[in-house]
Amino acid sequence: MKKLVITGGAGFIGSHVVRLFVNKYPDYQIYNLDALTYAGNLANNEDVASAPNYHFIKADITDADHIDALFAEHQFDGVLHLAAESHVDRSITDPLAFVRTNVIGTVNLLQAAKKHWAGKMEGKRFYHISTDEVYGELHDPNEFFLETTSYDPRSPYSASKASSDHFVRAYHETYGLPTVITNCSNNYGPNHFPEKLIPLMIHNIMNNKPLPVYGKGENVRDWLFVIDHARAIDTVFHDGKIGETYNIGGFNEWKNIDLVHLLCKIMDEKLGRPEGTSVQLITYVTDRAGHDLRYAIDANKIMKELGWEPSLQFAEGLEKTVNWYLANEKWLNDVTSGDYQKYYEKNYAGR
Ligand code: NAD
Repeated sequence: MKKLVITGGAGFIGSHVVRLFVNKYPDYQIYNLDALTYAGNLANNEDVASAPNYHFIKADITDADHIDALFAEHQFDGVLHLAAESHVDRSITDPLAFVRTNVIGTVNLLQAAKKHWAGKMEGKRFYHISTDEVYGELHDPNEFFLETTSYDPRSPYSASKASSDHFVRAYHETYGLPTVITNCSNNYGPNHFPEKLIPLMIHNIMNNKPLPVYGKGENVRDWLFVIDHARAIDTVFHDGKIGETYNIGGFNEWKNIDLVHLLCKIMDEKLGRPEGTSVQLITYVTDRAGHDLRYAIDANKIMKELGWEPSLQFAEGLEKTVNWYLANEKWLNDVTSGDYQKYYEKNYAGR
């Protein structure tokens, strides 16, 4: 029997990882450790909440004593670390929150693993989930991020994630902690908090609200369906080599403005509105400070060495995503009420 702690399991990607592990590995005990910030939502775990191998722990990874006590109590065999402050815009207005959770929180987990696994590292694994944004931005359309690409973070978010990646590597090199890291491109899919591009656009189209597009919408991102990311995480957790890094991506690059146009078209069809209705909501807003032009992942290493590959075409993934949001209006209304509404009005409304 394995006892795994998944941090950030009530968030977007974490909830899909929790679901996959709880259902696929009934002989593992899965502990979802989450502070339930604005981005964490237990409704994301509702379908597994009564499974006998699922456990929820409300804890903040910035609280070193609590994390240490939890490792002492539960004797976890593995860590899948996804808890993070994850929104670039928020990192620009409050960088210290990102230092606390993404850097100090990660080091607290590393410290606990090092202490409680001392002398018994065999079979243990500390898996750190990170982003392609640590590599900076690309200008040459023929260039891709490789695992060997130098780090060049340009936002407080990516700087905090880069720092946490370095700490994870340092704990492997210095203390022999059995670590593995993945850096993934942009995810999309169900349960995505509607401050990120795709769910924000879907939500605003549903509500006839302006669709804020940064600058001229020229920025390029690679998109991967969240369940394919969860599948990759399963593969790397079980088969990835200790001390290694793997890039994960969808080979699916889109300019933001083209993606927004596509979503408008899909939503017009779904909502029975005449084609061309939703594009009229597009509103260009002042570009994000330091907005990276292009991210693009070369995912050949994980594909060749571990046999993972994306299972869904983008059209199919977007269809599933849009259908999920249309069928889950209550979820959307719940997460967009209260604090998020205030944040949105302050940062986006009227721009
Ligand atoms: P998210 O913002 O949806 O979820 C983050 C979760 O972490 C939430 O449940 C939140 O409550 C929890 N959390 C935040 N601070 C915490 C703290 N101090 N203690 C305990 N829990 C805390 O994020 P996401 O989009 O699901 O991203 C998950 C991970 O994957 C992050 O590490 C992120 O950097 C990485 N990642 C995300 C993407 C993406 O496209 N979303 C791409 C690549 C990598």
